[in-house]
Amino acid sequence: MRMGDSELPAHEAVNLYLEEAADLIELSDEMRGALERPAREIAVQIPVRLDTGEIRMVRGYRVQHNDSRGPFKGGIRYHPTVDLSEVRALASLMTWKTAIVDIPFGGAKGGVEIDPGELSVPELERMTRRFTLMISSDLGPYRDIPAPDVNTDAQVMAWIMDEYSDRAGYSPAVVTGKPLSLGGAPGRERATGLGAVFVLDEFLLHHHLQLIGSRVAIQGFGNVGRAMAWELFRRGARVTAVSDVTGGLHDPGGLDVPSICDHIDGGAPLNTFTDADPIDNDTLLTLECDVLAPAALGPVITSDNAAEVKAKVVLEAANHPVTPGADRLLAERGITVLPDVLVNAGGVTGSYFEWTQNIQQFTWKAERFEQELEDRLRLAYREVHAKADQYHSSLRGAAFAIGLTRVAEATRIRGYLS
Ligand code: GLU
Repeated sequence: MRMGDSELPAHEAVNLYLEEAADLIELSDEMRGALERPAREIAVQIPVRLDTGEIRMVRGYRVQHNDSRGPFKGGIRYHPTVDLSEVRALASLMTWKTAIVDIPFGGAKGGVEIDPGELSVPELERMTRRFTLMISSDLGPYRDIPAPDVNTDAQVMAWIMDEYSDRAGYSPAVVTGKPLSLGGAPGRERATGLGAVFVLDEFLLHHHLQLIGSRVAIQGFGNVGRAMAWELFRRGARVTAVSDVTGGLHDPGGLDVPSICDHIDGGAPLNTFTDADPIDNDTLLTLECDVLAPAALGPVITSDNAAEVKAKVVLEAANHPVTPGADRLLAERGITVLPDVLVNAGGVTGSYFEWTQNIQQFTWKAERFEQELEDRLRLAYREVHAKADQYHSSLRGAAFAIGLTRVAEATRIRGYLS
């Protein structure tokens, strides 16, 4: 089980944040009780026929947290550490995230307890199709819409769409993050990373600081970390460190991000790039820098290392990278945390743009996608900032308070508790 501080399961850690925000908005106990728990939890055992002919049983989950503001929405991850507590926590985060950026979705998350690196492509496809089949009666363009997450990509989404469409008829809107040839939206893939940069830039503007020359260390160089590094480099920030599972790269003067991307696209591991110093993941988290962006799996900043963090700002590009204990320590040390539910909301916002084009069967130009993304994320930051001023709270407290207010209102007015 993935644990937070004091052996706190992930979903309890998220509920702690929720409780703090519920206190801020003086939410009734009845409503708290309703919003802390997921509406539905699906746990399945997926039989996967291996290439050897053997069957391997794999555990899969889909947790549907809340759909009062729209269909359940959230990614599916494939990772050996996936468990129900983590998927629950991540589903809950999706509910608040979609409400904070005010898009018409609820929150859900899925996970399969597997290291996809251990499977061949045909095995991965068989597993994905079987998982889809097992949860398909609970999916749908107006019911529950999966998307990519850790270790899942456009190809996996294409299999889910195909399997679902086999029974329901052509249904591109049942998943987002699809390949462009199947109704995917140009811009969706880098939307999470780009969104994180818009949120950071808006934060800096409000504090009369600028992105140009800022030193940013990024933990993780997958879909999110890479897009973020690229955009920061393009805008003149100094990306001083990046890392992935193979190791990390460090250059206090700023890394040459395009060359690192070329290196990886050529099929080489990140840590074999020679034009930078090596650095390990733990040291990266404690580097002297302006912004530290955890963009891999959470939680990585805990009570054990929070006192060592030297960044001025923590930009939560990953989901739940900072435990509640670490969050308190960082606050005491005057380090601002820009919370995940705001920072990485660009991904699901991009998913909304893809879904809306699918259901209208009308495609947008790429420029419109990016402009809408920028407008919505900058607005969401400004709303959170204003709310934090009003409540004298952290940005996380304010973000949760906004999300909670919107979800509670929809839940109440729909008569869920009657
Ligand atoms: N997996 C992403 C997230 O955690 C995107 C979810 C989506 O687009 O539905 O926000």
